[in-house]
Amino acid sequence: MGCFDHKQYVELTMHFRCNLKCEHCMIEGTMDWLQPESMDNFRQILDRNASTKQWKGLILTGSEVTLRRDLPELAQRARQSNFDHVRIQTHGMRLANINYCRELVESGVDEYFISVTAADAATHDAITKAPGSFDKTLRGLENLDEFEDIVTLTNTVVTKRSYQQLPAVVDRLSHLRRLVQMDFWNYWPMKEIDDKDLIVRHTDVLPHLRRAISMARQYGRAVEVKNFPECLLQDDGDALNNNQPELHIDSSFWPEFDRNGFKQCVHREACGSIQCLGLNTAYIEKFGWQESLLTPLPNVTPERSTL
Ligand code: SF4
Repeated sequence: MGCFDHKQYVELTMHFRCNLKCEHCMIEGTMDWLQPESMDNFRQILDRNASTKQWKGLILTGSEVTLRRDLPELAQRARQSNFDHVRIQTHGMRLANINYCRELVESGVDEYFISVTAADAATHDAITKAPGSFDKTLRGLENLDEFEDIVTLTNTVVTKRSYQQLPAVVDRLSHLRRLVQMDFWNYWPMKEIDDKDLIVRHTDVLPHLRRAISMARQYGRAVEVKNFPECLLQDDGDALNNNQPELHIDSSFWPEFDRNGFKQCVHREACGSIQCLGLNTAYIEKFGWQESLLTPLPNVTPERSTL
């Protein structure tokens, strides 16, 4: 399990532009027309938290939120509105500038959720299609290590290009002192087919993913896995957490998201797992139902049943 309670966070999509072109980008086809949350919505969330303290943390996201010039001001306003934590989701490249890190830290951003797509520059830069991006992102993580009272989290999207590198990603980041959690989000294409050929058969991912989970835990990190069959994870099933914070996003996003067709599994009725998303339409289209590989789980304890 991760070390953050998603129920205590609210997430606002404040920006829909990005200066990378990651091949696994899940909003690639929608980024151009999704509208970011208005400043009016932003103010309403802040006002609500100022009076009720409904959430502990605010997550500022979208595509690349560091491209917003007023990000420090947004963070400052959130911290003045009863948010104990402000998190940004970012590819981390701007954080290669230590002065920008300082500005964000001083404005109240204390949690940094950073995409690290692979373990080495050649693979990461091929995925992001931006030469030099790996070095900047790593520099950003190392810069953040210099600041007290902040934490970093990473996410590595599991695709055909990255899955064999998952343990190496954990190893490559082992020197980071502020890194408290590593996420591994198994790729979903936001459509009914895997037209980029990025989805990997679960049984091929499994040994690399379990090795990465084990190594990350040995380094003292919490681990969160998304979109992987819980039954295949066996003793590492507790790493699966498909919960998300309350997300405020353009309502046009949801019909696109629904195209994934999550929660399909021939064993669904018999299975006690509530966290598991089963298979999605693109996976089934590519690899079939794989019913003999999947095993229904017994009923779960209430604390795991939150999705
Ligand atoms: S049997 Fe199906 S629903 Fe149950 S854990 Fe496995 S993949 Fe998920």
